[in-house]
Amino acid sequence: MSELTWMPILMYHRIVEQEPPVDPDRICTSVGRLADHLDLLAAHDFAAVPLELACRPPEHGEGRRFAITFDDGYEETLRLAQPVLEARSLPATVFVVSSMIGGNATWNDEPRPLLTRTQLLDLHASGMFIGSHGRNHRRLSTLEPPAIQDEVQGSREELEQLLGVAVRFIAYPHHDLDARVAAAAASAGYAGAAGGRAGRHERYNLHRIDAGRMSTRELLLHASGLHRWARRQPMARAVRRAAVRFF
Ligand SMILES: [Zn+2]
Repeated sequence: MSELTWMPILMYHRIVEQEPPVDPDRICTSVGRLADHLDLLAAHDFAAVPLELACRPPEHGEGRRFAITFDDGYEETLRLAQPVLEARSLPATVFVVSSMIGGNATWNDEPRPLLTRTQLLDLHASGMFIGSHGRNHRRLSTLEPPAIQDEVQGSREELEQLLGVAVRFIAYPHHDLDARVAAAAASAGYAGAAGGRAGRHERYNLHRIDAGRMSTRELLLHASGLHRWARRQPMARAVRRAAVRFF
């Protein structure tokens, strides 16, 4: 498989009016912070593109690209995140847990309401791409093959039935995967799969930047690829410190 050209893919979870003082899961991003992130990247000539383009080489002369993703499908994605994106005409992908639509996220410190069916359809109608986040938000690498298939392919079928369009991407719950899980995503027909910070940026383990609590300076460092590059250098820590000063 040919190597993909890395591009920044931002990962967010809950979007909230105000970030709580205590956020043990580190999943809350204020509307203001999200808007600051997107405006900063625009000011640095980053163009938001659909996730689909993460799997294609950049076209000749194409400038800096990035993609925006939201995990879990909290009801706030429609109420608080969508208006920020719409005001800027930016594409984004929301990864939802297909058997828990209208329920509560039970995997965080405290349960939080997820999008209902109607809200999900509204989000989709507004232009947001919908991806799978499994059927039940399970750690896929801990499952037997039939259960992996049920989570990966079953969620795709459930969402496609609801939305009436092809579901092209999956994000692994807890960013947890192994070779079997990635193979299941490929054979279920996904165009690609999103991992987390440890993603190697392969088609079925796309690297994502955990942008949720980043300052604009940190975000720029990560989006520029400098952080990723610095991590691979022998004197990683010193290089990273120098890079932070540079920004
Ligand atoms: Zn999740």
